[in-house]
Parts: sequence; structure tokens; C-alpha cells
Amino acid sequence: MHNKPDLVLHICCAPDEAWVVHSLYHQYSLHCFFCNPNISPISEYELRLSEAKKTADIYGVPFYADTYEPSAWEDAIAPYIDTPEGGLRCSQCFLLRLRRTASFCQKNGFKNFTTVMSVSPHKKISMLNEAGHLAASEYGCIYESFDFKKKNGFLYSIELSKKLGLYRQDYCGCRLSKIERENRRKPVSNSLSKT
Ligand code: SF4
Repeated sequence: MHNKPDLVLHICCAPDEAWVVHSLYHQYSLHCFFCNPNISPISEYELRLSEAKKTADIYGVPFYADTYEPSAWEDAIAPYIDTPEGGLRCSQCFLLRLRRTASFCQKNGFKNFTTVMSVSPHKKISMLNEAGHLAASEYGCIYESFDFKKKNGFLYSIELSKKLGLYRQDYCGCRLSKIERENRRKPVSNSLSKT
């Protein structure tokens, strides 16, 4: 009998999780690890957690959740708090979550992991790969570099999450990205548009 290799998936949200699990569960023995100290407020964290658990249950994949420790995220990004989404703040946020995932792998006897975050076109693949490989090297694991947005992965993830009735968030996750989202929605003031 063919034994599928283990692969731990770092999970950020249910829509990304659904597409990746849907794509890989025939090839790998998957283990979902929800690790997101970045998400704020706690009500949003709990909603994303419960949707991610629901998604793993749909596919019959084991699901684990890290302890929610927002202070770890605050400490990690503190030197970069003034950088915009997509900059150094995000690279530290990725590194924090992938380090914790690598630590989970080490403690539980898993070797290989990846993240579902690459479904999003807003996440730079070079930044994710750099964080993943560094985290893996620190914990004696292997980071598998996938780019799940390729071959229309992002569009398929939207379709699949609609089909499964999953909650789709409209901001990345942290309190700063929530403010940035609100600012983008504000109409440009008349005084600015006159110049
Ligand atoms: S915008 Fe997203 S990736 Fe960047 S720091 Fe906030 S939660 Fe993390």
C-alpha cells in the first residue's frame, strides 16, 4: 500500500486552506496548523479559527491550533510598525508564524511544512520563501516552496470557498491592515482633489 508523505500546512484562513487541501489531499497526508497571533480583534480570530476547523473537518484532515498570543506579533513587528502592508512588517509577521509552525513540526515529529498564504496575490512569494526556509533551518525541518496562486489558484479558491459557504475576510488580519483597509475605503476629500 502506498503511504502518502506527511505535510504540515500553516493555515491563515479557511478560503486559502480549502483550495490547498483540495489540491493536495490526494498526494499528501495533510495536517493543518492554524497559527495566527497577528489577527485582531479576538472576535475576528475566533471566526477565522472556527471556519478553518470547519474546512479541515470537511476534508477529514487533522487540525491543530496554536495558542493565541497577540503580544508575540506586537513584539515581532514593533521595529517595523510604520512600514506599509507588503513591507518589512509583513516579512516579520510571516517569519513569526512560520517559526511557530516549524516549532510545531519539531515537537510533533513532522519534517515538511508549507503555508497556504501563497494563495493570496497580495503575499510576495519571495518573502514567504525566505521566511519559510529560515524558519525550517532553525528547527531542523524542510520548507516546501509552493506558489498556490499559480494556474488561477486564487480564483479557484474564491469559487471553492463560495461553494463551501466559507467566511471570506476583507483585510489581511492585523490591526494595522484593518486600518489600512478602512483608509482605502474613505472617499478622497474635495480639498485634496482640487490640487
Ligand atoms: S498586513 Fe498581513 S502579513 Fe502584514 S503584518 Fe499585517 S497581518 Fe501580517
